[in-house]
Amino acid sequence: MDQSFLDWPFFDDRHRALAAEVETWAATHLPVDHGDVDDACRGLVAGLGKAGLLRPTGASEGEALDVRSLCLIRETLARHDGLADFAFAMQGLGMGAVSLFGTPDQRAWLDRTRTGGAIAGFALTEPGAGSDVARTATTARRDGDAWVLDGEKTYISNGGIADVYVVFARTGEAPGAKGLSAFLLPAETPGLSVASRIEVMAPHPLAHLRLDGVRLPSGALIGEAGAGFKVAMSVLDVFRATVGAAALGFARRALDEAVARVRRPRAGGRTLAEHQIVQGHVADMALEIDAAALLVYRAAWTKDRGAARVSREAAMAKLYATEAAQRVIDTALQLHGGDGVRVGEPVEALYREIRALRIYEGASDVQRIVIARAVLDRA
Ligand SMILES: Cc1cc2nc3c(=O)[nH]c(=O)nc-3n(C[C@H](O)[C@H](O)[C@H](O)COP(=O)(O)OP(=O)(O)OC[C@H]3O[C@@H](n4cnc5c(N)ncnc54)[C@H](O)[C@@H]3O)c2cc1C
Repeated sequence: MDQSFLDWPFFDDRHRALAAEVETWAATHLPVDHGDVDDACRGLVAGLGKAGLLRPTGASEGEALDVRSLCLIRETLARHDGLADFAFAMQGLGMGAVSLFGTPDQRAWLDRTRTGGAIAGFALTEPGAGSDVARTATTARRDGDAWVLDGEKTYISNGGIADVYVVFARTGEAPGAKGLSAFLLPAETPGLSVASRIEVMAPHPLAHLRLDGVRLPSGALIGEAGAGFKVAMSVLDVFRATVGAAALGFARRALDEAVARVRRPRAGGRTLAEHQIVQGHVADMALEIDAAALLVYRAAWTKDRGAARVSREAAMAKLYATEAAQRVIDTALQLHGGDGVRVGEPVEALYREIRALRIYEGASDVQRIVIARAVLDRA
């Protein structure tokens, strides 16, 4: 694998050391058997935790999340095994609100999620509120010192296996986006149940959750009441670039597979790589990968330098990297001919793995809206 991008000025020596450490771990532990995705994810979280690789998924009081570390780990894990990237990413996304806005008591959960002792989930989407978070219908009403939550959450990754969720609900301080709040919800809380599991084309733990009179103490509120939308967007501001990084890892793996394939001698001793049109495809793949990497690490570096918000940079990174990865993987699969669609081929798995990344944490068209708003507002 070409690692020359690590020489780019976005990185410090500690990032280069981390990239080498993750690569060594991934090369010896991945891929895992995906037969039972729940067991596989539990094992991956425990293994990553034991290796110390979950440390960057949370930030203690006064610390900032290191977005470049998150991106480098996601990219590397995704190149080896999509499920490992998923298991890692959810520890960060799930606990993102706690890292950014948590109280000392809430942060105690980070000791467990960053060591692999607990699994995290992020519960924002609802059947009627996906891209449009302002339509959140789950309610949280005050009852004395407590909050009582009722509603449904859907497409919740780690739903059913998570030990703790951050859940968003309407507390009604104002209409729309300004009336939402974030809560820390331990999975064993009475009233929380898995209504159904959701099967997707690249299987991972995913569920539709029901909240039926879920009673939480006042200390479960993350940030201020009514600030839930800001909490959610701040979390996505950090983690969107990391989705781009995962896409980058998938794309790099696809290019490696394609290069190995087209250099392989065929009947008659010639290779596909000898055809100029194939060389053109290889050039386009490499170009899209470098462009995606530049956008991903530009966004991560900008955030790490202390920018309050990087909505435009993160949206560009996620949009470009995920869409480019889809094209790169499609080309890689095409260059494999019939073998490309055989179950068990790495490019076949990549083709399924990449698709959801263009939808979750803000679909591609939503990223276009974020970018356009930033450009138009500046003008
Ligand atoms: C595999 C997977 C894992 C997920 N994990 C989680 C999770 O852990 N936690 C969680 O909370 N959610 C999760 N989600 C949900 C995900 O974030 C939503 O699916 C996503 O935000 C889109 O919402 P939706 O499905 O309701 O689609 P919709 O909002 O209905 O959007 C469908 C399409 O409509 C178009 N569209 C929507 N709004 C606009 C607009 N304003 N302008 C132009 N076009 C628009 C876009 O093309 C979009 O792709 C996951 C989803 C998947 C597929």
